[in-house]
Amino acid sequence: MGPLAVFGIENDGLNLAANLLLLFLVVLWLALVFWTYSDARRRIADPMLVGCATAASLFPFIGTVVYVIVRPPEFLEDVRERELEIAAAEARLATIEQLSCPYCGFDVEKAFLRCPSCLRRLKEPCTVCGKPLDPRWKICPYCEAEVGQPAEGRRARPRRATAGSGTPPRPSAERPARASRERPQSAG
Ligand SMILES: [Zn+2]
Ligand SMILES: [Zn+2]
Repeated sequence: MGPLAVFGIENDGLNLAANLLLLFLVVLWLALVFWTYSDARRRIADPMLVGCATAASLFPFIGTVVYVIVRPPEFLEDVRERELEIAAAEARLATIEQLSCPYCGFDVEKAFLRCPSCLRRLKEPCTVCGKPLDPRWKICPYCEAEVGQPAEGRRARPRRATAGSGTPPRPSAERPARASRERPQSAG
């Protein structure tokens, strides 16, 4: 007696077919439970929710259909990959922004003093060696001049040649060129 005998199916051939169909449905149901479990694991991070999805799929066929409707649209792997891509794109964008004119966005290089497009000043040159200075620098790293120091500031050394202090002044004959250059300044 097959399970469908209650429906009045008495024929042996039909009975066998009904039994095979039932077996097929049971195997399909178990396969769907397994598929739901493995699919949920690839899409849902929370193991508790994976358990809920698998439990729902135990309800034959309908459970899996409902799961397919409400499941997260993306695989966790794809989500992670996309987040990495976004982070990389943001990092790339930050690099591009750093090397573009803050006024017009034109591509500039680190050593540019003025934007070649909008002609606005991007960096101040060192007053001593002329190299472009980062606004955060306190000294020029190329020539050790202090930032904002005037070009002739190096020569402005206190001179005590005429004062009667203990140490005798260095003979000016040692550097005749410098002495002759400075003399008109001090006089004026
Ligand atoms: Zn510009
Ligand atoms: Zn310098």
